[in-house]
Amino acid sequence: MPRILVLGGTSEASRLARALAERGDEAVFSYAGRTLSPVTQPLPTRIGGFGGADGLAAYLRHEKVTAVIDATHPFAAQMSTNAVHACAQADIPLAAFERAPWQAAEGDRWQHVPDIEGAADALPDGARRVFLAIGKQNLGAFAGKAQHHYLVRLVDPPKAPLPFADVEVVIARGPFEADEDRALMRKHRIDIIVAKNSGGTGARAKLDAARALGLPVVMIDRPKVPARKTCARLGDILHWLDHSARLGV
Ligand code: NAP
Repeated sequence: MPRILVLGGTSEASRLARALAERGDEAVFSYAGRTLSPVTQPLPTRIGGFGGADGLAAYLRHEKVTAVIDATHPFAAQMSTNAVHACAQADIPLAAFERAPWQAAEGDRWQHVPDIEGAADALPDGARRVFLAIGKQNLGAFAGKAQHHYLVRLVDPPKAPLPFADVEVVIARGPFEADEDRALMRKHRIDIIVAKNSGGTGARAKLDAARALGLPVVMIDRPKVPARKTCARLGDILHWLDHSARLGV
């Protein structure tokens, strides 16, 4: 029987874990350990880094893993890059289970930027009320833009003060609804939203809300990851597992 490692931290990973558990597959689920109370998975779960690509390759060999599914967030580029190198090193098939990026539709006012620094640069000079919907990492990139009021949405309360003089924090875990996000943006009189192009439905609400309110969005494009097999649908990733992964292709 194949022994699968699922690199998690997304709703896709949780869907995959449920499917693998229902099928009775032998699999281990891996979390980085970033949130205080991660979603419980119906699979044996390990938490914490592997120690880079070499550490992951050693883990794969030691645990006799036969296939790896990278279901991390599209912005978890370090983990995804490590997975490509480690699987090549250990000669283990790898596929990514990754949602497609969002595309702007009519009525959207998106400005695309290549990275977090680009997003900070894209904010106007004059003071604005900015909804930073980018999680807890990388907030420091906006510290130099101290003229703005920031609304920050986080899964867990921050352990240290945020690097802003004028900030409000909302603690909430997705998925979110567009009408809730519209109400949130109205309440906080938001002028501009900063978002990562994560894709998927649960985090899309803020974009639908922005469109409804006619607000501009600074959209951070996805980081580059080395080429690998990628599936956007659960059925495709299970098909890969049952066919290509078994054959080692
Ligand atoms: P990252 O920068 O790509 O990874 C940094 C390091 O964290 C990796 O080198 C690895 O440490 C460890 N790591 C990351 N994902 C792991 C996993 N699933 N299992 C074990 N170790 C893992 O990742 P990140 O952006 O900090 O994201 C961390 C986690 O949060 C991921 O599970 C991701 O799916 C989730 N997440 C990220 C975002 C985001 O916007 N970045 C959003 C939502 C959820 P070692 O090198 O020691 O192995």
